Amino acid sequence: MKTKIDSAGRIGIPKKIRLLLHWEAGTHLDISINADTGEMILRKTEKSCICCGTKKNLFHLKDEVYLCSSCAEEKQK
Ligand SMILES: [Zn+2]
Repeated sequence: MKTKIDSAGRIGIPKKIRLLLHWEAGTHLDISINADTGEMILRKTEKSCICCGTKKNLFHLKDEVYLCSSCAEEKQK
């Protein structure tokens, strides 16, 4: 599939791909690149603790901000 970068640097992700990957409007993505091959990789952002990065026992603070139970306990001390 092909897409084009517009003057503001945006690309359109084909609907077929969005449906397949369950990427809806508002989905947060992480971008990584491989400069050697000229590839850009988009991956749905995984929920993780804003302090330590763990993906377990998360509490939702706001928007895309999460805190794990042990960091939450640390903050209350
Ligand atoms: Zn944490």
